[in-house]
Amino acid sequence: MKILAVNAGSSSLKFTLIELPEKNVVASGLFEKIGISGSCYTIKYNGEKIKKEVNLVDHSVAVRILMEELINMGIISSLDEIEGVGHRMVHGGQEFTESVVLTEDVLDRVAKYNELAPLHNPANIMGVKAFMKALPNTIQVGVFDTAFHTTMKEAEYLYPVPYEWYEKYGVRKYGFHGTSHRFINKTISEYFGRNDLKVISCHIGNGGSITAIDSGKVVDTSMGFTPLAGIMMGTRSGDIDASMLSYLAGKTGKSLEELTNDLNKKSGLLGVSGVSSDSRDVEMAADEGNERAILAQEMYAKKIANYIAMYNNLLGGADVITLTAGVGENSKTMRKSIIEKIASLGVKIDDERNDFRGEFRLISTDDSKIPVYVVPTDEELMIAMDTMELKNKNN
Ligand code: AMP
Repeated sequence: MKILAVNAGSSSLKFTLIELPEKNVVASGLFEKIGISGSCYTIKYNGEKIKKEVNLVDHSVAVRILMEELINMGIISSLDEIEGVGHRMVHGGQEFTESVVLTEDVLDRVAKYNELAPLHNPANIMGVKAFMKALPNTIQVGVFDTAFHTTMKEAEYLYPVPYEWYEKYGVRKYGFHGTSHRFINKTISEYFGRNDLKVISCHIGNGGSITAIDSGKVVDTSMGFTPLAGIMMGTRSGDIDASMLSYLAGKTGKSLEELTNDLNKKSGLLGVSGVSSDSRDVEMAADEGNERAILAQEMYAKKIANYIAMYNNLLGGADVITLTAGVGENSKTMRKSIIEKIASLGVKIDDERNDFRGEFRLISTDDSKIPVYVVPTDEELMIAMDTMELKNKNN
C-alpha cells in the first residue's frame, strides 16, 4: 500500500510517498515559502527532479497541487491509491503516548499544546486540515515527536523547581526527536534480536538529543520543556544556567524573547565558532586552524560524551550506543572525537570501521566494552509504518 508521510512547517510542506510493506520510496518532495513570495516546489520521482515556481498562498493550495502532480506525473493513477497520510506532529503533551487517528476532535485536543510548540504545532495542524480536505475518505494519522518519551518517570521529567509550575503550567521535560529515537531503537533491537536492550541513542544533526532507552521504554532524554535543552547543537545552546537571562536582560536591554531567540538561533556551534551552524563548515575551519572552530568542535563532542556517560550510569550499563542524523551518520571526525571522550567506559573506536558515511555499521573495536553502531534514521518510514498499522487496525 502507498502511504504519504508529511511534515508540515509554518511555510513548508515536505512529503514522502512510501510503498509498504516493501519500504520503497516512490516519490518525495518539498513545497517551500508557502504564504510568502518566491514560493516553489520540487518533486523527485524515478531518478528525476522537477522544480516549479508557483504562487502557494496556503497549505491547501500546496496539497491540491501535490495531488494534481502525483496524477499528472504518473506517480499514481488515482488518489484512492494513497491509503493513508501520516503527519509528523511535534507536541502531544503527556496526553498522546502513541500515534493516533486524527479527527477534528483529536485535532482540537492537539491544539491545546500549541502554546508549548508555537512554531510547530499550529503548522502541523494546518497541514492535517489541508489533507483532510483533499482526501476526505483517507485515514490521517498523527505521529508525535513527544510520544516515545512519555514513559519517563517523574524523577526524570520533573525539574527541581516549584511543583506548581508543573501542576499549573505544564512545565516539565517532554523530550523531542521521539520518532527518530523509536526508529533507531526498533532497528537495533531487531538487529540484536532482543527486546530488552539498554540503548543510548544519539541523534546528532542540526538539532540533537541523546536518549536512554531500556527494553523499548525511554528512561531519560536530553531535550526538555523545549528542544533548546540538552547537548550543544548547530545554533542552540543546550543546557545553560537560566540566571544568565535576567543578567543579560539588564546588561543588553534585550527582552527575554530576544535572548531566548539568541539561545535558539545564535548559539551552539555557530555562537562559539563564529563560523557557521553547519558542522561541515566548522570542521573545515577547524582543520585550517581556526581556534574558535576547534573549541566549538571540542565542546560539542564533550557535551555529547558527558550525556552518554551519565545515561550509561542511569541505565546501569548500556548494551549498545547508536549514532544517527546528519552529523552522527556522516562525520567520522566527530564520531571519533565523541568516542575518544568516553574511553573511561571502556568504549573504543576502530578507525578503519569508522571510515565511511551514511550506512548501518559497527564502528567500535571487538574489545570495546559497549559496541557503537551508526544507524541511519528514517522518521518518514516510521511515520508511514505507524499509519499502515492504524489503517490495518481500523479496517
Ligand atoms: P540533520 O539535521 O540531521 O539534517 O543534520 C544536519 C547536520 O549534519 C549539519 O550540521 C551538517 O553539516 C551535518 N552533516 C551532513 N553531512 C555531513 C558530513 N559529510 N560531514 C559532517 N557533517 C555533515
